Amino acid sequence: SARSRPGRIARYQAELETGGTFAAQLVGELLGALARGEVVLHYQPQVELRSGRVLGVEALVRWEHPVHGLLVPDAFIPAAEQTGVIGPLTRYLLDLAVEQCARWRAAGLELTVAVNLSARNLLDPALLTDVRAALARHGLPATALELEITEGTVMMDPARSRQVLGALADLGITLSIDDYGTGYSSLAYLQRLPMGRLKIDRTFITDLVRDEASATIVRSTIELARHLRLEVVAEGVEDDATLRMLRDMDCFAAQGFGLGRPVPPAKLPALVLAIEAR
Ligand code: C2E
Ligand code: CA
Ligand code: CA
Ligand code: CA
Repeated sequence: SARSRPGRIARYQAELETGGTFAAQLVGELLGALARGEVVLHYQPQVELRSGRVLGVEALVRWEHPVHGLLVPDAFIPAAEQTGVIGPLTRYLLDLAVEQCARWRAAGLELTVAVNLSARNLLDPALLTDVRAALARHGLPATALELEITEGTVMMDPARSRQVLGALADLGITLSIDDYGTGYSSLAYLQRLPMGRLKIDRTFITDLVRDEASATIVRSTIELARHLRLEVVAEGVEDDATLRMLRDMDCFAAQGFGLGRPVPPAKLPALVLAIEAR
């Protein structure tokens, strides 16, 4: 039942943390889950603040586990990264997201889709081929695809990252720095990469209205990003006061529970209509 889900997830998470055998077991389970279609994507709207329009969605993975219920990424992505299953998993999700986005566009919903990449994905020599293949297979223009990468991912191998990101940008894909502000890299460094967007981490947005320091950080990040020609997306917007403040700061777009929670693809068109009717 839905009520026992949090408990089950917590237990499952505790098991995962106890070590290697579960990680190894998870690999087999996850590959089976992919084949059975248990791994799905939910989509969260990204809203342009000036117009109130939904520009795109971020694809967030969920595992509809037959025993443990709906699992969030934190319950299995770390193990997938450690074991290398993140390779086939991301390839699968990339294809799924691109296919879904192409479907929406064919139905007249002009959205973009953002896919999260792990460090291992960015360093995988097959990434570029996989991305090109997914776009071609579903006839999605590269400009409709966004890839989200954290600062930490880029810093794992800056030279190689720059090379791969350059090739992806050349295709026309939008590259975003995810969780901005939680890493140690400077905007001056990130600016040397072909990034198009910067997603300010939720920790700075949560306290925006109440905390002077957060407001200063967000305001100056938006200011600096404008000079560097980066679009700023605020993550984790939960209320209207925060939304108004971001709009006053000329933030480009926002994402958060206050605008729309991640939903299964079938529920997305109605959510877009509801947001744009606000
Ligand atoms: P993220 O990329 O920073 O994604 C945003 C997370 O914040 C999502 O959690 C989303 O549900 C949540 N969120 C959105 N708005 C709000 C809000 O207003 N308040 C709060 N408290 N939370 C909000 P989720 O789906 O559990 O994903 C967690 C993380 O797992 C993601 O963080 C991302 O790092 C990773 N992840 C998700 N999907 C994928 C994937 O397909 N591949 C990889 N490699 N990682 C993924
Ligand atoms: Ca993300
Ligand atoms: Ca993020
Ligand atoms: Ca994150």
